[in-house]
Amino acid sequence: MMNEFELIQNYFKSLPTPRGDVVIGIGDDAACLRVPQGCSVLVSTDTLVSGVHFLPTWNAYDIAYRALMVNLSDLAAMAAEPCWFLLALTLPTVDEAWLESFALGMSDVIQSFGIALVGGDTTQGPLSITITMMGLAPVDKALKRSGAQPGDEIFVSGELGAAALAVETLNENNHPMAMEKLLHPKARVDLIPYLRQYATSAIDISDGLSADLNHLCVASNVGACLMQDQIPLHASLELALHGGDDYELCFTVPAEKKKQLTKDLKQKGLKCYPIGVIEEEKGLRIEDADGNRQTLIPKGYRHF
Ligand code: ADP
Ligand code: MG
Repeated sequence: MMNEFELIQNYFKSLPTPRGDVVIGIGDDAACLRVPQGCSVLVSTDTLVSGVHFLPTWNAYDIAYRALMVNLSDLAAMAAEPCWFLLALTLPTVDEAWLESFALGMSDVIQSFGIALVGGDTTQGPLSITITMMGLAPVDKALKRSGAQPGDEIFVSGELGAAALAVETLNENNHPMAMEKLLHPKARVDLIPYLRQYATSAIDISDGLSADLNHLCVASNVGACLMQDQIPLHASLELALHGGDDYELCFTVPAEKKKQLTKDLKQKGLKCYPIGVIEEEKGLRIEDADGNRQTLIPKGYRHF
């Protein structure tokens, strides 16, 4: 059986490194990365545990793909351009077919986002994947959760509820589009230039719209009202409001910039959806087509 060093050599050191700013990559005691002047490094980490975040029966390709996307999505929400990542991998055994497929999943994401694996750690134990993603943003230009102002428009970057539908119907296998969204979410790195130009705050919708918008509102010391008929639903309102795992972004934009943002996005063939407005009054509300308002209680996935 392959030892730890052969494993790293065969599957991780051989991955493409589409960047010129990796001074020292895999193989030394630490990685060394060149940071351009005027930039801050933003760092985020997420762990995926077998049986909690994915099923052990999933393809290793899909597990690798998802592990990278959830981390890319966190950086996109901060308007940080993703650059480098570390991989802490805990494996029950050395299964070469599994590793081959895992490396292929990483390789595809590495190439489509221009990021590089620069180091990590490999241990034995129950299957778990921790990725630490690093990215760049101009100094003091990282987009926070805490910048929303009363009057700002609330946007989401795409349809919501598909991944939650897939989770609910995992065993039925009859929602292929929803399953595709669960297995292969696409981190919205494409929106970074628009977020930098227009947004006052942003968060990625990993726990569900109501839970994550609530986090944004609490951080910004404001509240929000959603327009029920403007929320882009995949299946049901319930799943769109409270279902997680979509990895779309929710962000706020000053009302006077809404038109220009929509125009800019359209020019690039992109579309985001205005779904409500930030208000001074704390808490979340939702308004139906007849103008009836109701309190919206945030709920989403919690580990503890
Ligand atoms: P150390 O004993 O110094 O912790 P390791 O034997 O853990 O070193 O790792 C050797 C090299 O391989 C290091 O550069 C480390 O970053 C890299 N590495 C280990 N595991 C992984 C992995 N899963 N993915 C990428 N690089 C890894
Ligand atoms: Mg180590």
